[in-house]
Amino acid sequence: MLCFIVIFSQNMLIENKRKEINQIDEQIIELIIKRNEISNSILEYKKSKNINLYDKNREFDIIEKLKKKYFDKINSQEIEKLYSYILFYSKESFLNNSNNDCFQLLNQKPIVIAGPCSIESEKQIFEIAEQLSKIGIKYLRGGAFKPRTSPDTFQGLGNIGLEFMKKAADKFNMKIVTEVLSAQQLKDNYNLIDIIQIGSRNMFSYQLLKDIVKINKDNKPIILKRNFNATLSEFVMASDYLTKNNNNQVILCLRGIRTFEQINSELRYTPDLASISELRKLTKLPILFDPSHATGKSEYVYDITKGALALGADGIMIETHYNPDESLVDSRQTIDITTMKMIFSFIEQIKYACS
Ligand code: PEP
Ligand code: MN
Repeated sequence: MLCFIVIFSQNMLIENKRKEINQIDEQIIELIIKRNEISNSILEYKKSKNINLYDKNREFDIIEKLKKKYFDKINSQEIEKLYSYILFYSKESFLNNSNNDCFQLLNQKPIVIAGPCSIESEKQIFEIAEQLSKIGIKYLRGGAFKPRTSPDTFQGLGNIGLEFMKKAADKFNMKIVTEVLSAQQLKDNYNLIDIIQIGSRNMFSYQLLKDIVKINKDNKPIILKRNFNATLSEFVMASDYLTKNNNNQVILCLRGIRTFEQINSELRYTPDLASISELRKLTKLPILFDPSHATGKSEYVYDITKGALALGADGIMIETHYNPDESLVDSRQTIDITTMKMIFSFIEQIKYACS
């Protein structure tokens, strides 16, 4: 009997404590909802005024103040982890409710753009789009106009290639990123393209940059890739041509530069990782990293991606194919879908810490 009473009173004690915890949990959720409502109203205002949603200093201050105030009650690292997630979640929930794709693109970090170097057939681009969209990738890259070193190699399928990619992207609910080499190519395909890419070789083609701005009446996002021989200030000045008419949807993409490394190593270019930090000081534009062209080797893509994200890149662009060996262009640097899946899940895990 005594034993029964002891067990009963223990159970009562646990039950009462649990009730208390349940109440606290509800209060926490209520407070998070309330916090998000206030934060959303600030984000809504920033969006209407075209102010960058991200304020790293403010986020840093919030966490530091809490760490200081509660250092003797909660481990500082736990506060950091918890608050990184709370801050990430409040932005994420706001962005998920926004139906403006360009806006999402620039604010949902890190973004992942993947796809083949070149569109090679309708079947190829459909298959790749399907497999990438299953992973959760929303931005499909693929070249229809390829800037090849030799005129005797495959130059891309041209307009028809873009039509294939558009059909695939529509079917799998993805957005298209593609390079144009001339103003005419952009005019002919403007409605098919969501994000306009200006390749490394054309970063110095100032007339093309001006023409693209003129044609880009809908203010679509433009990705400008760094020329492999360009200094960072030349890169930033080239981007000034694109931002001139108040187009703030310009995204910079680092993709490796030519150095002494290329004399006797097999690296196609030298990954310009430190330039991420340096560029941050020179520009407010978002910065992508392309580990495929930067290394030229598929086996380095994952690690260089990690490096770029650790340095704060806002996204990555990776050449991906269901069978890299089959790729007509850049097969040596193209990763397969399984590797892409690993990279994507890595990014999902660290996303809140990076944003
Ligand atoms: C590409 O991304 O398809 C490409 C050709 O890259 P880059 O201009 O950097 O060489
Ligand atoms: Mn390529």
